[in-house]
Order: sequence, then structure tokens, then C-alpha cells
Amino acid sequence: MTGKDSTTGGTTADGRTVGTTAGGGTVGEGTRAVRAGLPDPVKYEPTLPGPVFAAHFHLPGEPVGPYTYGRDENPTWTHLERAIGELEAPGQTVETLVFASGMAAISSVIFSQLRAGDAVVLPDDGYQALPLLRERLEAYGIEVRAAPTGGDAQLGVLAGARLLWIETPSNPGLDVCDIRRLVKEAHAAGALVAVDNTLATPLGQRPLELGADFSVASDTKGMTGHGDILLGHVTTANPELAAGVRRWRKVVGAIPGPMEAWLAHRSLATLHLRVDRQCATALTLAETLSTHPGIAGLRYPGLPGDPSHAVASGQMRRYGSVVSFVLPDRDHAERFLDALRLVDDATSFGGVRSTAERRGRWGGDAVPEGFVRFSVGAEDPEDLLADVLRALDEAVR
Ligand code: PLP
Repeated sequence: MTGKDSTTGGTTADGRTVGTTAGGGTVGEGTRAVRAGLPDPVKYEPTLPGPVFAAHFHLPGEPVGPYTYGRDENPTWTHLERAIGELEAPGQTVETLVFASGMAAISSVIFSQLRAGDAVVLPDDGYQALPLLRERLEAYGIEVRAAPTGGDAQLGVLAGARLLWIETPSNPGLDVCDIRRLVKEAHAAGALVAVDNTLATPLGQRPLELGADFSVASDTKGMTGHGDILLGHVTTANPELAAGVRRWRKVVGAIPGPMEAWLAHRSLATLHLRVDRQCATALTLAETLSTHPGIAGLRYPGLPGDPSHAVASGQMRRYGSVVSFVLPDRDHAERFLDALRLVDDATSFGGVRSTAERRGRWGGDAVPEGFVRFSVGAEDPEDLLADVLRALDEAVR
């Protein structure tokens, strides 16, 4: 890395930014994370410029970008979008668009790419995008097909589809599919591929390098990691696809506030520290639970005995912060969650404070009543393990 070359991204003809990785992709992940998206230094200016609060920008004459109106572009998004692009695809030129939430990012890909008469393949065991979107898609004349993530079962319903939507590892079941294989077959069949990369984050898995057309995420989770922001993004290397997503964002207006975008960028600087700690503790927790007599159905892709491990190892560089397991019944799970002192009984995942929840309380996921999704935070591992083991003991009573 040559000192200040952390944003070597280019600018398109209309003034939009596209990112090329810091140092041409040659720096380590930690270095990349702390410098991602930073503009060239300017004397007396902060390293990461503060949030730009603007509904409109001073714009005499012809309305040419990069900054015209606040629903179209914002300099704080630009920095964040470059940063995410550098993490998603080091050394490549890609476009990233940030959104007000993960669902806004998901919807932007689905609704910008699909037309009446198209078919889309979704996972039937992933985040609840399927139940949230199915009715609307069908009302627009789009055929919705679904199959499980594990065993690459989505391939079985792919024929003739326009878009294959993958979520790997799947939330909450933590099954994994082979992204390279699915992409190869989908492209051969003329389908685009989008990967929901929320659980892995780009430090765990880089879908574009595995051939996907879109990498999409809820940055509400591990990317921002503090449980205080809703945000999402879409990254693609294909300018035409990016243009469709950009247009959708403008039409729907699902844009992040500048404060959220700035906080997200600030949070990315610690992404590698957080995920390293969280993934290491998640593995330790999974190993500990694997021999615990009260636990069934333990899943963690990083565990060598896990059904997902072989495929995950071929495409993931870190296995994520989420561990799932099944306690004997609903009451047992509730008692366990009540007994935890260092773990919040809350939904979502990927944050620095551990959270756990009985997933079945929401309905909609095909999981047993005692199924617990556990998101490992950045606490000291020994404290967390002691808390979990004590809570498991107490739950038996
Ligand atoms: N994708 C996955 C895998 C998720 O777990 C979630 C939320 O839990 C989303 C997308 C939706 O993200 P958001 O809540 O930021 O809209």
C-alpha cells in the first residue's frame, strides 16, 4: 500500500464513484478494513469526513452529478459504498449501493430484475424474505419457487428461472450451499444469481469472487455490529445491473440517513477485529456444546463434524458468529434464555453483545419449539462460556 492510496476508485462519466480496492487488493484484511473507503487526506480535514446532511446540493446550471438531490446521492454514502466495495471485491471495480435496511437492498434486486412472466428461486429455509415477498411477487405475475439451501436443492427448481436467490449460511438453520456450483448451473441456464451474504460478511465470504452477480446484505447485523443501525447494501460488478438497482433506489427512496451511513463506515474499521473475535468464540462455544448432553441439533459450519463444513470450507474464510441448537422443548429454551446474564434475549445477530432467541416464537421458520439461535458477541470467551453452561444447568431444573 502506498500511503494514501486507500481509495483508488474511479469516477464514472456522470460523476458516480466505483471502488477499486485499497492498495490494489494487496493489503491484509485488517488494513483494508481500517482504511476502506477513506478519501485522500486533506490538510485540516478529518480522516473520515463527517456525515453530510443535505436534501439538495448547490447546483447552478445543468443538473449534472455527482451530487444533485439527496435521494439520488450523498457524499457520506459514497465513502461507505467505496468501503463496502473494497471489502466485497478487493482489487476489482464494482458498484455498491447502500440502502435503508437489508430488506430494502433485497427488494431492490428482486424488483429491479424481475418482470411479469419471470420465475425466481428463493431458499425456503432462509431469512423471511420469502414469506415477506411471495404475495407481492405473485401479484405482479412472477412465479415464486422455493427449495432448501442444503444439498444445493435449489438447482432442482432452477429450469427457466430468471433469478436464483441464495442465502448461505442460511438463517437460522445454518445450512450451506455450494455457491460456485449454483452459479455455474444458473448462468448456464440463463439465470442471474444473488447471494444474501449477511451472516458471513465480506470477511467471511466474497460472493462476487465465487461468480455471483450480486452480493446483498443486511448491514444491520455483523457489518455494523453494534445493534444500533438498520442498513443494507448491494454490490455488483455489472454496471447495467447496478443501474437497475440504482434506479429502483431512486424510485422507492429506500435510502439511508447520512448519520447511519457515517456510523456504518466508522464501524467497518473494526469489522475484522469483531469478526475474528466473534468467529473464534463461536467455534469454542460450538465445540463446548457439542459434548453437552442437554443439546441436540447443534449447527455451526466451522465445526469439522457439521454437515455444512466441507462445502463451507471451500468458500468461506470465516464461519460466522451464529451457532444454533435445540433444547428439549419450548419451556426449556425459555428457561435457558431467562437464565443467561451476559446474553440479551433479543432477535438479530452479528453484534458485539451476544444475543440469543427462541426462534420459534416468531412463527414462519420450520424449526422445533426448543430451537435457539445464538449470536456470539465480543465478550471474553471464558465469561460467555461460563454464562451459557450455567444457564443450561439452570434450565434443566
Ligand atoms: N437477510 C438476512 C439473512 C437477515 O437475517 C435479515 C434480517 O434479519 C435481513 C436480510 C433483513 O435485514 P433488515 O432487517 O436490515 O431489513
